[in-house]
Amino acid sequence: MIIDRVRRLDAASVACRARFEGRRKDAHALFVSTEPPHTLEPDPNGFLLGAFIPAWLSRETRVRIDGAVCPLLAANLSIAARLLRTWHRKLPPPPVIECEHGYRPPGTRSASFFTGGVDSLATVHALTKLKPPGHPDRPSAAIVVDMRHHPGIDDKEADARFLRCIATGRELCGPIGLDVIPIHSNISLLSPSASVWVQLYHGAYFAGMAHFLGHQFRLFYLAAGYPATHLVPRGSHPQLDPHHSSQHVRMMHDGIELTRLQKVEALSDWPAALSRVYVCTSTRTGGGNCGRCEKCVRTRLHLLVAGAPGGAFPQGELGADEVRRVRLWNELSRICYEDALPGLRRRGRDDLAAAVEHLVREHDRQKAGKRV
Ligand SMILES: [Zn+2]
Repeated sequence: MIIDRVRRLDAASVACRARFEGRRKDAHALFVSTEPPHTLEPDPNGFLLGAFIPAWLSRETRVRIDGAVCPLLAANLSIAARLLRTWHRKLPPPPVIECEHGYRPPGTRSASFFTGGVDSLATVHALTKLKPPGHPDRPSAAIVVDMRHHPGIDDKEADARFLRCIATGRELCGPIGLDVIPIHSNISLLSPSASVWVQLYHGAYFAGMAHFLGHQFRLFYLAAGYPATHLVPRGSHPQLDPHHSSQHVRMMHDGIELTRLQKVEALSDWPAALSRVYVCTSTRTGGGNCGRCEKCVRTRLHLLVAGAPGGAFPQGELGADEVRRVRLWNELSRICYEDALPGLRRRGRDDLAAAVEHLVREHDRQKAGKRV
């Protein structure tokens, strides 16, 4: 792959051209933009992070980039690639990075990526609660990334989610001193696979976006989706994300010390956040919570255990029949439901506890069947 024409279009947008050289011969005019008064830097490190995994998965043998790449990022990417090859044994050798080297001056502020979900709300809450205003590691911005052009989501749904996240960010993060910075980009067009996005790519992608803001920000938090007790290989992972750092931009995977239920409980002293939380996995709800998918029901259960209002969901009180209709789809969802059991019993909701136990039994039975 060749990346050239790295340039600033205006104060709020940057661009480059990326051309595949191997099996794929397609070329892409890539852009990243924000909205004034926010500004972006045409940092080649950002485009490298956005293009490296797509180039690798397309079996490109090199990524040649016009512009100076941070030597620390180049070294980190080779470590990240080694880790990914231990997780995914069939990956070919990674592409060689051909570039000049150079350091860029670091910014002074910290920022957190923000989706309005449980994980990013818990990250923002914990970091702003414990670190006083003016502390260099306290996030002073919430970065909201537009999911348009990402695999598995159509433009209408992506636009609705983005508007919701921006509105939630302004409502919740504004009053505690965070700027809300929107980011739009089409870089993920380079990798049209949803499974690649989840399994290998999204941590590098967000680190790429961080670098375009690196003239102001030196530390970026990416909220953990999995607790330390149940880590699995993923595109954002506590072992992987730090290796998307350069000398001037440091990526931090935040929040693995807490389970998802503990995060909801920690948010119970921020009721405005829990009444706006957005967790839904449905791609047909116009940016709203459907209240019925596995993640919505799991969150409704956790809110009930935490004694928090369920106003973020369209349904009223959660019923056992709604829980029984859910299908657990991986170990994390199983653990999240099991974690709710003691709290449900404590609150006298034996009906829901029985429904959760039924789900867990079904999940275990199906898993055992697959093993046979
Ligand atoms: Zn849902």
